[in-house]
Amino acid sequence: MRPFSFERVESPTAAVLAAAGQMPGGGEAQFLAGGTTLIDLMKLDVMRPERVIDINALERSSIGRIEANAEHLRLGALVRMADAADHPVVRSNYPVIAQSLLLAASAQLRNMGSLGGNVLQRTRCTYFRDVSYSACNKRNPGSGCAAMGGINRMHAVLGTSDQCIATYPGDFAQALMALDADVEIIGPAGVRSLPFSALHRMPGDAPDIETTLRPGEMISSFFIPAAPWTRRSLFVKVRDRESYEFAVASAAVALDLVDGFVRTSRIALGGVATVPWRAERAEDTLRGKLVDERTARAAAEAAFAAARPRKHNAFKVELGKRTLMRALQAAASLPA
Ligand code: SF4
Repeated sequence: MRPFSFERVESPTAAVLAAAGQMPGGGEAQFLAGGTTLIDLMKLDVMRPERVIDINALERSSIGRIEANAEHLRLGALVRMADAADHPVVRSNYPVIAQSLLLAASAQLRNMGSLGGNVLQRTRCTYFRDVSYSACNKRNPGSGCAAMGGINRMHAVLGTSDQCIATYPGDFAQALMALDADVEIIGPAGVRSLPFSALHRMPGDAPDIETTLRPGEMISSFFIPAAPWTRRSLFVKVRDRESYEFAVASAAVALDLVDGFVRTSRIALGGVATVPWRAERAEDTLRGKLVDERTARAAAEAAFAAARPRKHNAFKVELGKRTLMRALQAAASLPA
């Protein structure tokens, strides 16, 4: 076991000051909420924080609450996955969120996992999680990528680089992307807000840098506007077994229809990309159209036009298209 310091904080300000190294201790810090990713990766020796900052006491603040009104839904980052999935307004007015959370992980993990931690979960790339493989640019920058010439069946076909092809593993993030969410962040310099789509970074030349969060910053909440497309939204997840499994392909879809014709569509893909993946070109093909098999296929073709498969994951291109087609047609057939 590697030694680390542990501290509990009672306020958001204390949390960000502690993480920014402005309190006694110094060294690389990680926030601890449910711990379902962090503890796992510390046991595997993949993450080696020098300081762990327990933020669970912040649950008593707005960071631990859900607020819903006619204009928006606000989900605190320390809300547990299970509580958000069970919330009656989330279930009725933002179904893609409830479905993405219910399809993620076991009940035990949903009871522990926080929403903020969920969107920041690390990839399931085997070579990243197993430190006996030395070549992993994400874990060990500049060391290479064992997945390129290894088993890459579960890896990404969109948003990859020559440095990393790891798949973003989550589901909830795609729902946030489809619903045009913003993320609120607390940091040493104060509070800032950005579109959720700007939170994750594609691997590029630096796959070890996964988000645009700055040192000491912490997600405090997710803000989802009550838009015309939120109620007609859903999540389709395809995986190797029925439950407790990560997506091989998924699609979060939200539609605003007028007399059956698409006024606005919002599409995010999971299981196939290095980040939560907004499929804007697919959205463009649907504008003004009825959703049927032909237009859904055209949208799916556009969504995967830039796909770059590897040796073992070419099947994901067609699977991803069919997943999106199924999601679009199911969303279009929901009652108004
Ligand atoms: Fe590491 Fe990314 Fe390559 Fe996996 S795909 S081995 S995470 S660099």
